Amino acid sequence: MAQFQVKLRKRNITEDELINDLRRCATELAKNSLTSIEYATKGNFGVNTFLRRFKSWNLALEKAGLNAPNRQNVSEIELFENIANVWVSLGHQPYGRELDKSLGLSEFSVGTYENRFGSWNKALMAFQEFINSGISPSIKTSFSNVSISNTKRTPRKVNWRLRAQVLIRDNCICQMCGASPSKNPNVQLHADHIKPWSRGGETVIENLRTLCLKCNIGKSDLHEGD
Ligand SMILES: [Zn+2]
Repeated sequence: MAQFQVKLRKRNITEDELINDLRRCATELAKNSLTSIEYATKGNFGVNTFLRRFKSWNLALEKAGLNAPNRQNVSEIELFENIANVWVSLGHQPYGRELDKSLGLSEFSVGTYENRFGSWNKALMAFQEFINSGISPSIKTSFSNVSISNTKRTPRKVNWRLRAQVLIRDNCICQMCGASPSKNPNVQLHADHIKPWSRGGETVIENLRTLCLKCNIGKSDLHEGD
């Protein structure tokens, strides 16, 4: 049974009110960033109001022009995905300074990685370990005479970890036309099945190569796509 509850008229709090209150608290605490716990000691509104309005505490901080260096809920996988994205955008292993948010490549600052892993180098080592731990096993050729119907196939979809491996191995360059996001930010790279999955090609690193979207579509026009 639902409990009896009074109905309170909710005042419509504007985004500006929320942002201004964040800034006021930051100023009073003489900080350029605020945790939600710090805000709760001085703020006029509930933290949940911010989360509902801005989706995350970090986004609220960003709207207020405050730093959001230590998002507590960032998962390691998000941090690794971000390294892969920055790597592909640059076409090379990122330097810590290339994570500077003003460059618009990285979602997280190098400080976030330093806090989590101890240093940028240690973050890179953890990234390497994570990426390598996901190497999909190659199909064993000794079993190639086993009938197809009994063989468990790899999934068609290339997960982001395998995609990162393929793109990094290929220096983030389209293997057909040489396009790369480091030269043209509009270039989208994909991990393409060399032998199409629909014809029995497996989703393993040996059967994948880096292609830009253009070449991938062009290829699909000539053959059946994969
Ligand atoms: Zn291409």
